[in-house]
Amino acid sequence: MYGVQPRRLTRRVLVGGIAVGGRAPIVVQSMTNTDTADIDGTVVQVAALARAGSELVRVTVNTAEAAAAVPHIRERLAAKGVDVPLVGDFHYNGHRLLTQHPACAEALAKLRINPGNVGRGSKRDEQFATMIEFACKYAKPVRIGVNWGSLDPELIARMMDDNARSAEPQEAAVVTRRALVASALDSARQAESLGLGTDQIILSCKVSGVQDLIAVYRDIAGQCDYPLHLGLTEAGMGSKGIVASTAAMGVLLQEGIGDTIRVSLTPEPRGDRTREVVVAQEILQTMGLRSFTPLVIACPGCGRTTSTFFQELADNIQTYLRAQMPVWRGHYPGVENMHVAVMGCVVNGPGESKHANIGISLPGSGENPVAPVFIDGVKAVTLKGDNIAAEFQALVEQYVHKNYASAGTAAKAH
Ligand code: SF4
Repeated sequence: MYGVQPRRLTRRVLVGGIAVGGRAPIVVQSMTNTDTADIDGTVVQVAALARAGSELVRVTVNTAEAAAAVPHIRERLAAKGVDVPLVGDFHYNGHRLLTQHPACAEALAKLRINPGNVGRGSKRDEQFATMIEFACKYAKPVRIGVNWGSLDPELIARMMDDNARSAEPQEAAVVTRRALVASALDSARQAESLGLGTDQIILSCKVSGVQDLIAVYRDIAGQCDYPLHLGLTEAGMGSKGIVASTAAMGVLLQEGIGDTIRVSLTPEPRGDRTREVVVAQEILQTMGLRSFTPLVIACPGCGRTTSTFFQELADNIQTYLRAQMPVWRGHYPGVENMHVAVMGCVVNGPGESKHANIGISLPGSGENPVAPVFIDGVKAVTLKGDNIAAEFQALVEQYVHKNYASAGTAAKAH
């Protein structure tokens, strides 16, 4: 079958004004790695993630200081004009933190509860119920987020025992995958029985293996209509994390599974946390599911182009386009669908450039040192000399203004 399968129809959950599920556009989210008690540092990072395009930002709420900081973070973000909904990530002591800091629950747009980490034995149900009561009291949705690394040990032990006694025992990995799904669904049912609305529940079952993630999400998608938060946990660093996340989520998104995504990259030391947002957007955009930023189509380069000029131009244009988006988004509706080609030589350069909205075919080794620019499939101008990069950028800007300015903006400009 060619193309993306229709999105699985799920319930629609509102998270601080952002719709998740119900075939709303797939939401990109991210998580801070600052100490939430560090209000200044967390505000800076949340604002950067939101500016990069994160539509929800999760913060860890692990201590009394972190819980106390959340309302201040919310206020400081509002003062900066950043209204991205905040999600609180709770483990072990969430029941206590919410009881002691109800203002934290009020300031958050959603609570994330890991049913494997809410308590043991008789305490488990009681502590889970306390957290759900706060969600009900403050009308907040909840993500019931099960994780492979912190699966409820009592549940998995029980399921393993049942499996061992069955006539046809399954492999341990199969039972574990089933336990993840069972934990999420049982907890959702429990939350509903405590008064949480069916339109207040999002589920996730994160694992770190690509094939496991695909199997688990196919399973849970077939068993419920809660919106699903998709993500490979502990995806890893650099290209490994990106490739693994893309491979796993690409298959599921293609099958119409997934209402919100996060790419859990381990940042390089002193690396940029916003990378995970860019990667999530690029997964959705390259699959044709959503558009965020004009797409740069660049050839990989080869022996026909020995200079790095075209690589630098492609990189500069990409950086420039992304940097313009916070302003362009308001002024130039639809600009995120624009395609810009930057090609290294005459072999594929003119052809690819003609397919783009605007494209440039740079001269390869031994070619005449000129760079034809194609606009909407037609050769518009030929650039030469030392200012090709600046002149091409100016042409891109003109193209954007001419083709995407809304009526109000265009009238003002004339
Ligand atoms: S367009 Fe030219 S430079 Fe780029 S990869 Fe193809 S042959 Fe090589």
